[in-house]
Amino acid sequence: MDLGIKGRKAIVCASSKGLGRACAEHLAAAGVDLVLNARTKGPLEDCATEIRERYGVKVTAVAADVTTPEGQDDIFAACPGPDILVNNAAGPPAGDFRDWSREDWHMALDGNMLAPIEMIRRCFDGMISRKFGRIVNITSAAVKSPFRPLGLSNGARAGLTGFVAGIARDGVANNVTINNILPGLFATDRMTSLLDMISTRDGISEQEAIDMFAHSFPAGRLGDPDEFGVLCAFVCSARAGYITGQNLLIDGGDYPGTF
Ligand code: NAP
Repeated sequence: MDLGIKGRKAIVCASSKGLGRACAEHLAAAGVDLVLNARTKGPLEDCATEIRERYGVKVTAVAADVTTPEGQDDIFAACPGPDILVNNAAGPPAGDFRDWSREDWHMALDGNMLAPIEMIRRCFDGMISRKFGRIVNITSAAVKSPFRPLGLSNGARAGLTGFVAGIARDGVANNVTINNILPGLFATDRMTSLLDMISTRDGISEQEAIDMFAHSFPAGRLGDPDEFGVLCAFVCSARAGYITGQNLLIDGGDYPGTF
């Protein structure tokens, strides 16, 4: 399928690896020029080189923390008028809410609620005036089905989800959409560190922790980031102009509800 976005410009935040990188790869495969972002310069530049060589699109690497105003300035300086914005950043650590301070909450809110809202604020009206825009926020299946140790994530992402629900209809008449994609468990470094924590806590090997998770899933496996990237590229495509304000769960059927 021709996604109809060849030559468009995308900012893909937090994209040197994992789900962000998978989104970047599939947008590049559709002919989209990219601004990639991560905090650590070396792996980010390696990723930019690989994607540039593989797909022949323009790729600019911006090493910056997307949760800071300075980082956001740097990203928009590299791409002042994006057609596509994929919001992403690290998730907050797991723990017990009794231990979390005001600072812990502020860090979670900055990363998983306020930064994506600010990134949207900086490009939404420009997209409307150009009559094309696609915004995707990478959130979490925990928005629909909260996971108790990830309370910081559950809370901050719920705030972003409520905000997006309120504005997602404002752009659609001008072909600007905003959607959230909610990953279940995908085989990325983030997941590996969570599995490390579980294997240490339960005194089992990492493979046993993976097996324990995988066997409890209807799909019998973790998600492949590539499967996530394909969905993101479709939601960002010219073909998806009638989809807005949605929370698209991609979890191999793990969530058991009808809706
Ligand atoms: P990952 O494999 O650890 O990759 C994270 C990427 O984001 C890296 O490129 C990292 O590079 C970059 N990054 C992190 N914080 C950043 C920041 N403040 N500014 C700029 N770049 C930043 O993580 P992932 O598994 O793809 O997860 C992506 C998001 O999805 C996270 O919010 C996670 O909580 C959420 N999620 C993931 C899963 C899953 O199963 N994987 C499930 C539910 C939700 P640097 O470290 O160099 O900055």
